[in-house]
Amino acid sequence: MQKVSSQQNLKFINQQKVLNLIYNQTRISRVEIAERTALTQQTVTNIVNRLMEDDLVVEGKPIAGAKGRNPIPLAINGNKMYAIGIEVAIKYIKGKLIDFQKKVIAEFSIVDTGFENSEETFECIRKVAYELVKEVPKKSNLKGIGISLQALVDSKNGIVIYSPGLVMKEFPLAEKLRKELDFPIYIENDVNLVAIIENEKGRLVDSKCNIVLKLDHGIGGAIMNQKQLIVGASNVAGEFGHIKAFTGTNRYSCVCGSAGCLTTLVSAHGLLRNKQMTLNDFSEKVQAADPEAIHLLNTIAQAVGRTLSNVVTFLNPDRVLFAGKVIEKLGDRFVPQVIQIVNETVLDTCKNVSIIHVINPLDESLIAAELVIKNFFEIPLELLSL
Ligand SMILES: [Zn+2]
Repeated sequence: MQKVSSQQNLKFINQQKVLNLIYNQTRISRVEIAERTALTQQTVTNIVNRLMEDDLVVEGKPIAGAKGRNPIPLAINGNKMYAIGIEVAIKYIKGKLIDFQKKVIAEFSIVDTGFENSEETFECIRKVAYELVKEVPKKSNLKGIGISLQALVDSKNGIVIYSPGLVMKEFPLAEKLRKELDFPIYIENDVNLVAIIENEKGRLVDSKCNIVLKLDHGIGGAIMNQKQLIVGASNVAGEFGHIKAFTGTNRYSCVCGSAGCLTTLVSAHGLLRNKQMTLNDFSEKVQAADPEAIHLLNTIAQAVGRTLSNVVTFLNPDRVLFAGKVIEKLGDRFVPQVIQIVNETVLDTCKNVSIIHVINPLDESLIAAELVIKNFFEIPLELLSL
């Protein structure tokens, strides 16, 4: 039995190698695939035939001018395959159905003033997924549902470990959803997911080691080294928001039970809790050059700068990407200050770090759908060791 299973795994891995190449290389021919994968031409031909029968791959026009027989380029049949992405935030759930060329086919959202219990949160996620599945032109071509959550997530086992905002604890989200909708379900923490996708094909594609920091309702962080997410021993790595950053009169108690954490003043939730101000109010006051607001902004920039400087010294990333609503509203004002502080305080050997920020909101439901596409083309090398 073991042998049969290994052979099946090998067959699957070979197929994924071919699919992955066709996805990542434009106009690649069967001959080139055989050269690049070290598979025999016959094996490649068999795999490609199967992929074409399944509507996953199409042939293009022969490449004219090439020596010998004109090779036929292959391409992913992107507009025939679909992915659903769902962004689960504290007060809303947004979903998108896209094809593999990232064209949006349908959207569905639920706005909630706050979830009461885990079943209510699950019901809303299920409803968004269900409405989008209804819109899929051919169900067998839906390759999965990706879910981005503002939560501590065990993505391998599909479990939401903890999220006070979503009222979930040890919640087997992927399994419960798969029972109702029979498609692959991938779940991931929202910031980790941004890091995964930006490292795959986005702004961090040429980075060896980087961190993504989302300053939003709360604060989240993700650490990526050699394209691998560092999740820590209990999936908690990257808790940038709970690094102690404030002292004296700025030291407020934190929801984590401690005090002086970065999130107590640098997140929308912290501003409301400790300064009785919404992020919009704060941003407007800063724009109007209100002296108190400017003072607070400087305090925030100093704290983020010092904290980031320590993190950069400790981890030696080549890139830092800031995102989230706080950055969208105020990033242009305070990120330059943060960069200056980091440059002045990190070791010379860490000074090559580039700190960038996104001004336009990230489309997190689209990013969640991209997780499905990424998984679909992934080569599961871990199967080789089974
Ligand atoms: Zn805290």
